[in-house]
Amino acid sequence: MRRLPIFMLLDVSESMAGDNLRQLQHGLERLVAGLRTDPHALETVHLSTIVFAGQARTLAPLTELAHFYPPRLPLGSGTSLGRGMQHLMDELDRSIQPNTPERKGDWRPVIYLMTDGKPTDDIEPALKRWRERYAARATLVAIAVGKFAAIDVLQRFTETVLRLDAQAEQDFRRFVDWVTMSVVAQSRSVAEPRAGVNLAKIDESILKKIGDIENGLNVDEDLVVLTGRCQNNRLPYLMRYERVPAAARTRQFGMELDLYQLAGVFALEADYDALSDDRALVRTVSTDALIGSPGCPHCGNPTAFAMCSCGALMCIRGSGPALCPSCDRECDFGECGGDGFDVARSRG
Ligand SMILES: [Zn+2]
Ligand SMILES: [Zn+2]
Repeated sequence: MRRLPIFMLLDVSESMAGDNLRQLQHGLERLVAGLRTDPHALETVHLSTIVFAGQARTLAPLTELAHFYPPRLPLGSGTSLGRGMQHLMDELDRSIQPNTPERKGDWRPVIYLMTDGKPTDDIEPALKRWRERYAARATLVAIAVGKFAAIDVLQRFTETVLRLDAQAEQDFRRFVDWVTMSVVAQSRSVAEPRAGVNLAKIDESILKKIGDIENGLNVDEDLVVLTGRCQNNRLPYLMRYERVPAAARTRQFGMELDLYQLAGVFALEADYDALSDDRALVRTVSTDALIGSPGCPHCGNPTAFAMCSCGALMCIRGSGPALCPSCDRECDFGECGGDGFDVARSRG
């Protein structure tokens, strides 16, 4: 039986922290469970899961559906779409069986790429490689999640770009069911001579095919994600701040200030570092713009927002000496002075 290879290429950058990642995790499980109920899919579909943040990694190599178990999705810092695509192409080279005179190879692979941000790396080398060697023999379905995804970049890789606007959990489930139905449709039609990808009928309320109208409609990012490290167990955590809508802001000194409200704090595992970008953080935000300071999600220290002179954030119990988990230096925290300081913003 010839295989139908399906690759899930998933953005697991910090902006996915919280509900988004949880939904994606459940979505992957629902996809596998749904596909397993279809005899055509069971016969042909092979699945692989690749994630990218600052780095890219294969979580599950191409595996037949019956033996595929959805991996736990990690998080990392950065949105290196270029690296993600390069990794995908390496994986295609490694796992796709070509046609030979003796044997029919795999069916045309289908890649579902999901991302919610703008690339933080140079995509041009990956784009060149993709267009020259892969675009003609693989199908890429790009799904832009939310309103901050770089649709114009995705359109350079593929004609098939969809925007997912899932407001509620059930919207996301309907989206996963759409992916399931699309894969099933593909598994039934592979033997037909007509080339191209088969997608299930699009539910316009959650999923929109991107036409020319939306070109250049990229909205400014309105999310600040800061990374800190627990003093006690040295594990990283994320603090997510969302921009306060302009209408809700007060004007100070006749100047419009960007304000960000704390929206969540998330404990991370050690694998965060391995998936993160090793380049220096460049964007900064003033603490004056941030509303709300969380406690540490690892150890419960009341302040997760203490900054060492090395620039790293850590959790502290209160004022007094503390050991920075990032640089191992002792620092002393006095009572809070009123002045804001600039903290390095993590790449989305
Ligand atoms: Zn802590
Ligand atoms: Zn330090």
